[in-house]
Amino acid sequence: MVHVNIFDTTLRDGEQSPGVNLNQLEKLEIARQLEKFGVDIMEAGFPASSQGDFEAVRAIARSIKNSSVTGLARATKSDIDIAWDALKDAAEPRLHVFLATSPIHMKYKLFKTPEEVIQTSVDMVAYAKQRFPHIEWSAEDASRSDLDFLVKIITKVIDAGATVINLPDTVGYATPAEYGYMFRYIRENVPNIHKASLSCHCHDDLGMAVANTLAAIENGVTQVEGTINGIGERAGNASLEEVAVALNIRKDKYPYTTNLVLKEIKRTSDLVSRFTGMIVPGNKAVVGKNAFAHESGIHQDGVLKNTLTYEIITPEMVGIQSNDLVLGKHSGRHAFKDKIENMGFTLSAEKLQEAFTAFKQLTDRKKEVTDEDLFTILTDIQTAVADIKKYELVAFQVHYGSANLPTATVALNTPEGVRVETARTGSGSVEALMNTLEALIKEEIHLTDYKLNSVGQGRDALAEVHVKMTVDGTQVSGRGSAQDVLEASAKAFLNTVNRVLFNTKAVAQAQAELAQA
Ligand SMILES: [Zn+2]
Repeated sequence: MVHVNIFDTTLRDGEQSPGVNLNQLEKLEIARQLEKFGVDIMEAGFPASSQGDFEAVRAIARSIKNSSVTGLARATKSDIDIAWDALKDAAEPRLHVFLATSPIHMKYKLFKTPEEVIQTSVDMVAYAKQRFPHIEWSAEDASRSDLDFLVKIITKVIDAGATVINLPDTVGYATPAEYGYMFRYIRENVPNIHKASLSCHCHDDLGMAVANTLAAIENGVTQVEGTINGIGERAGNASLEEVAVALNIRKDKYPYTTNLVLKEIKRTSDLVSRFTGMIVPGNKAVVGKNAFAHESGIHQDGVLKNTLTYEIITPEMVGIQSNDLVLGKHSGRHAFKDKIENMGFTLSAEKLQEAFTAFKQLTDRKKEVTDEDLFTILTDIQTAVADIKKYELVAFQVHYGSANLPTATVALNTPEGVRVETARTGSGSVEALMNTLEALIKEEIHLTDYKLNSVGQGRDALAEVHVKMTVDGTQVSGRGSAQDVLEASAKAFLNTVNRVLFNTKAVAQAQAELAQA
């Protein structure tokens, strides 16, 4: 059996999904979950792209021990220096440096000749080698590059010290046969290829990212890059959970092993979906909520007689628990603690108390508290922005009737500790509420997206709102949940604004720290 390393890029390529904007606590939670899921390498971000990204990569590098942590860098000395600063405390620091190799990218984007692209790549890999023990070099747009040019440049970057060669299908253009052939060609023609391992990185523009990934593995790739739920630029990346389950279910065809813990799939997927606001479609392979539902009578009958008739993957395999132990009004602190530990949460005593109070409040209004409810409460508490002066909702009231103008009145505490109050109208109740909040907040706000979901099922389900906005020109997203739609909307609105205040403070702190050092 050949071992395949899993390289997760949910926090870098995935975070590049349009509109996705994670805060540092959310990134850390995802990183910890990826470590539990068993990824060999995680790409924590692109340190030179922003101060926020730098901070997040550094925090992840310092706290993750069982996966190698990497960061992306363009082929420039300053990007590599910044990446080193962010990654040097990692258990196994790794650099991912890239440069485009396709004719169209070299000519129209880089304005470099092929010879210059080779020279820059070699120089930057050699430069990085002075510090990083592991260097991955990526040929951006490899699948549209000339094969013999790839052979030439790969030979030289391996000589310069690259230990992993990644050949991405950057624009999601390759077919499985073409993509597999590229790796075979490289293996057969690069004389020093035994000194490095090959990696694939596929995008899903034509819906072939997972198929291309499997074709790459069959042609000698020993590192697979992808994201949870397949999120990423444009149509996204190869879904790691799909690759993992395909390798497992069809091991008769794919004799490869990974370190992934399949039972962690569900939780990893839930966490990423909740934090990014990218809801998993019901019909998504492996993690969609319909993936294990059988609708037609013939199918149901078959499954009842023998599950294997229509079910190739069991829900248990991917960590979906069928025997939900439901908590209610009379569940005590002990049962609550057991339950949340069982769900994979570790909270400080203070946060545990906060979570228990929120749980008790919910049981006043809701007879049964499900795993999904708890997951929502706990992730909110775990990643709430703390230790800053922020906007706080004091009270609100909304008047709505089909015949009158919807009007909202809101009272807030501002970060300066002043209580403010006003009223506004809107064309609907949610809009009236948001107009009022906007009037009370001094930062300039443009709401760009609003999404409402119910958590779980039933008429007493929690409402969850995801919001995207620009606050003083910065794009940011946030979320809020409550039993009422309007309250969830107000919470999401304030959560998003408060994130900007938190980021501003974190950046100021980091700059002060750097100035002292
Ligand atoms: Zn990509």
